[in-house]
Amino acid sequence: MQPRDLSDHVAYEAGRGIEEVARELGRDPSEFIKLASNENPHGPSPAAAVAIRETASSVSSYPKAAHADLTTAVAARWGVTDEQVWLANGGDGAIDYLHRATLEPGDDVLVPSPGFAYYGMSSRFHHGDVREYDLEREDDFEQDADAVLERYEGDRLVFVTSPHNPTGSTMPLEEIERLADATDDETLIAVDEAYGEFADRDSAVALIEGLDGFEARDDVAVLRTFSKVYGLAGVRLGYAVVPEEWADAYARVNTPFAASELACRAGLAAIDDEEHVVRTVETTREARAYMREHVDAHVWESEGNFVLVDVGDASAVANEMQDRGVIVRDCSSFGLPGCIRITCGTEAETERAVETLNAVLKDLD
Ligand code: PMP
Repeated sequence: MQPRDLSDHVAYEAGRGIEEVARELGRDPSEFIKLASNENPHGPSPAAAVAIRETASSVSSYPKAAHADLTTAVAARWGVTDEQVWLANGGDGAIDYLHRATLEPGDDVLVPSPGFAYYGMSSRFHHGDVREYDLEREDDFEQDADAVLERYEGDRLVFVTSPHNPTGSTMPLEEIERLADATDDETLIAVDEAYGEFADRDSAVALIEGLDGFEARDDVAVLRTFSKVYGLAGVRLGYAVVPEEWADAYARVNTPFAASELACRAGLAAIDDEEHVVRTVETTREARAYMREHVDAHVWESEGNFVLVDVGDASAVANEMQDRGVIVRDCSSFGLPGCIRITCGTEAETERAVETLNAVLKDLD
């Protein structure tokens, strides 16, 4: 017996960890810093770490109460009902739920290119046909409704990533509204705000709720994660905020207990730790500005916790930086030849990354 034909499915390429890289190179892990997976350089909120330790004795129970409490806390944060919050196993899990809730076999899904690989993977799992719209390099990957509408053909689901990984560009809420207005009633616009906390823009939840002069609508959903600003990538926790009209669907599409007791308890503590969030956002903004000012190559403006840099030979630069102890992401395989992505680190990490990159650029010249 073999698995079914999976030749159309591509494996997710996760960034390699410090231990893995050090082992492969036969070096000590302490020689490396990793700025390759957009993780929080300050780690998790200390309160979340305590909550995880304290949860140890109760993990024999299913996470029902903690799940409900976290749902209520997230709903309160956005001013929506509990039914509009769909907790999931990471933002990735929330992407799965939106597919489950929208797709019939053969429906089309429109995703950005370059873009986050999991949209397409999840679409294929759910028997959707993946199509792409382009973010143009010569326009600095600027995002507006027209670029999407140019490719739109009644797709059931349209992904917008704002801030966009790996370029850092955003789509203004007015453009998302224009896109939602111009597409069919049966099209859902999924706005992925995994990096939303790092941006100057308001959340597209305003479009769902009809805030800030927008009319409330039933064709926009927002994705968020605890992996980035809350520093909880390892516990796997994310969610979708959906329109009120979707309230009933969650119970029908979710994986039972998809958000674990540990994740829910950690999430509850993290969401309360405003200080950790503020500190993380401040560090990120300073790191972005520092890299734009000091890197001797083109750095695109970014609203995420990373920057994209045009370095020429991305593979050679990333390899050489890794050799010198700084792990960054070569973006050639994202359809961005010549580019690397550097995550915003602590002040010391960011300075080391810039110094290393500038030295490598000089040496490879
Ligand atoms: N969306 C985007 C654009 C991302 O970059 C990521 C993380 N790489 C995710 C969603 C999902 O993150 P997670 O599953 O860790 O919440």
